[in-house]
Amino acid sequence: MILKNIRYLVTQNENRTVLENVDVEIQDEKIISIGKKLETSNQKTIDCSNKVVMPGLINAHTHSPMTLFRGISDNKILQNWLEEDIFPSEAKLTEEDVFVGSLLGCMEMLTTGTTTFNDMYDNLDQVAEAVNLTGIRAVLTRGILDKDIEGGRKSINDALDFNRKNQDENLVTPGFAPHAIYTVKKQTLREIKDYTEIFDTIYHIHVAETEKEYKDSIKETGKTPVQYLDSLNLVNNKMVAAHSVWLNKKDIRILSENNANVVHNPSANLKLGSGIAPIPSLIENKVNIALGTDGVASNNNLNLFEEAKIAAILHKREDPRKINEQQVLDMATVNGAKALDLEDQIGSISVGKKADMLLINLSELDMNPVYGKRGIISNLVYSFDGNVDTVIVDGKIRVKNEELRGLDKKALLKEINKRSEKYN
Ligand SMILES: [Zn+2]
Repeated sequence: MILKNIRYLVTQNENRTVLENVDVEIQDEKIISIGKKLETSNQKTIDCSNKVVMPGLINAHTHSPMTLFRGISDNKILQNWLEEDIFPSEAKLTEEDVFVGSLLGCMEMLTTGTTTFNDMYDNLDQVAEAVNLTGIRAVLTRGILDKDIEGGRKSINDALDFNRKNQDENLVTPGFAPHAIYTVKKQTLREIKDYTEIFDTIYHIHVAETEKEYKDSIKETGKTPVQYLDSLNLVNNKMVAAHSVWLNKKDIRILSENNANVVHNPSANLKLGSGIAPIPSLIENKVNIALGTDGVASNNNLNLFEEAKIAAILHKREDPRKINEQQVLDMATVNGAKALDLEDQIGSISVGKKADMLLINLSELDMNPVYGKRGIISNLVYSFDGNVDTVIVDGKIRVKNEELRGLDKKALLKEINKRSEKYN
């Protein structure tokens, strides 16, 4: 397949090059050539003369089955939201509910330009089924909770099983997800560090999300959440630390020196009143920062273009020079790939990488006018609503003319709405 005469190709390569009027050739799942006037004989071609082509976005922290909980609790702080509304709803979840919730999430992510997501939940076999049905790419990490929780060992065994079973999958990459320091025992955290080495995977954790977590950690361990995890040798390049809102200077230095990865989730942090992550300081200290929506129950959507704009303007609130559109686009693409340890495969449009990319119509009103190459990045971050025309994942077209391909959306929505009734 050849994408022909691309008006603007936002590569997100090492030099962040934006190319004009070029072709991209895809063979099987990979990008094999980028250049002018590539040979098209016997190949399917897509005319991109009025399109922007860019890498698919990477949502580095979410809980896709919770898409079923859109709008069930909108006005509570994290602790009450979790204990009064989320945990009781989760207690009613069946495997089928997890599947349809995740399916809705995968469909929403694909149609708004996300081609890879990093998920934390249970019943991952059902999530993997939704991933494979829709053709999106995902890192699936089993949520592990065992502190003051009955049967906590099951979550660890499930995580081990899922990792063993999914070592050689294509779209699914397994990992581990100790939920947070306040829900996982110290000994289990130590165990998980060993598992990430044995299986060579990332681990995914909520870190320093609220002031309560930060203060409780100091009270119980004498250390901040980051310093507590560091004392267990868990601050490393395999760490994907969602939120990281409550950090002191030393925490930021530790994250930087140990090449840890932070995922910024501005909507969820604002909506649950958790606070504002010190993103400009993390950038200054060269910490790798990815972008995530968190679950729909605290966002309430999975549109990473929208999240990018929120991230950008949030950190400009006192000084608009603190963050720029290129840094935010990096968070949603290459930085996410690095955080998920997939940077040699995805995150940019480069020869040899997987063909995960978005085609955006330049006829979209919110993409006009275009002030050249700089204007394209500006429009993508600050004005575009995420209404992508075509989405390619692993070399396959999954969204075309803004519609999911090969899925009966009407029938799926009917099933999803039927399943949602008991949470009302
Ligand atoms: Zn979360």
